[in-house]
Amino acid sequence: MNATTEKRIALISVHGDPAIEIGKEEAGGQNVYVRQVGEALGRLGWKVDMFTRQVSAAQEKIVQHSENCRTIRLTAGPVEFVPRDDLFGYLPEFIDHFLAFQRENGITYQLIHTNYWLSSWVGMQLKKIQGSKQVHTYHSLGAVKYNTIEVIPAIATKRLAVEKEVLETAETIVATSPQEKQHMRSLVSTKGKIDIIPCGTDIQQFGSVDRQAARAKLGIDPEAKVVLYVGRFDPRKGIETVVRAVGGSKLRDSQKLQLIIGGGSTPGNSDGIERDRIEGIINELGMNDITTLPGRLCQTILPTYYAAADVCVVPSHYEPFGLVAIEAMASGTPVVASDVGGLQFTVVPEETGLLAPPQDVEAFREAIDRILINPQWRDELGKGARERVIRKFSWDGVASDLSELYTQLLEQPVAKSLVETLEQTLEKPAVPPAVESPKAAALLS
Ligand code: UDP
Repeated sequence: MNATTEKRIALISVHGDPAIEIGKEEAGGQNVYVRQVGEALGRLGWKVDMFTRQVSAAQEKIVQHSENCRTIRLTAGPVEFVPRDDLFGYLPEFIDHFLAFQRENGITYQLIHTNYWLSSWVGMQLKKIQGSKQVHTYHSLGAVKYNTIEVIPAIATKRLAVEKEVLETAETIVATSPQEKQHMRSLVSTKGKIDIIPCGTDIQQFGSVDRQAARAKLGIDPEAKVVLYVGRFDPRKGIETVVRAVGGSKLRDSQKLQLIIGGGSTPGNSDGIERDRIEGIINELGMNDITTLPGRLCQTILPTYYAAADVCVVPSHYEPFGLVAIEAMASGTPVVASDVGGLQFTVVPEETGLLAPPQDVEAFREAIDRILINPQWRDELGKGARERVIRKFSWDGVASDLSELYTQLLEQPVAKSLVETLEQTLEKPAVPPAVESPKAAALLS
């Protein structure tokens, strides 16, 4: 790599702050992905700056994670939590602050990896403004998501158009599973380049605790049959399915059955609506004595929960990848998951767990019971699960694939058509300084 192609990258994740606590409202897999990819790339010698939006005055502007990797929080709209569907109008300001940061620090990011459609729009504008090369990961596809929810938000048309444009214009799209790639091709566009590089997990952290020790630490009976859910309280996550499945389990009366639902923020926050609804179902089914809701689980205690469980259930209605599945698998715990999206890629039925149609309570009940009834098979599945993760889904492996991709892109010359566009942009008269968000606002119109 020559001097002009130094190993520097901006990861942009407007709404998914890589430096915050995971598991609360709207903070989940994307935050983990960006943080882990950033840190792993840093270990490979990349200078990694992860840009996100500041949501509270108490937050530090810059968080240094390691020598080469930091989170940089930019102002875009009010300095408070704004749901992602309401963020689009603040993106020009995000771009202005990004450009100001570059100027102040004497940096021009030649390579940008954007995350989720909002950031993809930011990346596309930076491509037009300064010729940055763009890699994009969707994390969720509007075209798929809108099929699984009843109330379509007002921003949907915009999102679908942006998702199509980025697929057709980015240097490459990183799909995290073959299923996601197929959705892009069939539902978004047949044009554009797609590489498949999965999400990863920390195979040292997950898998570091044995079951007996984990149960002792959490005060769980060694003889209990433990079913675990981990994730956000969001109706799309299908928590109702696992509650009803465990409620109807054949083992419910004869065995010490236990359901743990980990995740969510403290009562009073926006995900509390789904939490209240789920608690209502637990009450209705008389499951209070066998269910615990420990709230958000931090990354240091999570390996203990996964290790303590007999089976981890991922009942999502749709899941582009699903980090929880590979975290459980890395911990030697088989997974019963919905037969959708990335879960079809990570979970191999009868080898690392079982798949069931989403929202099919009876199929989930049967799959969970099959595993719980046969401890020896459960252990075999758990072993197969960990082996699969080690083989395919370690963060260091993922980061090294990404590093190779980035290096190739940086070495490619800028496309001729883009050089012409940039020259034309530079020839245009400058926008008077009094106009707020000059370059970026013009792009919005
Ligand atoms: N998570 C966590 N604590 C919790 C709940 C979730 O740390 O209490 C983490 C979980 O370990 C995983 C991520 O949040 O790394 C969720 O990612 P996933 O892809 O499964 O779902 P998403 O939230 O992106 O829909």
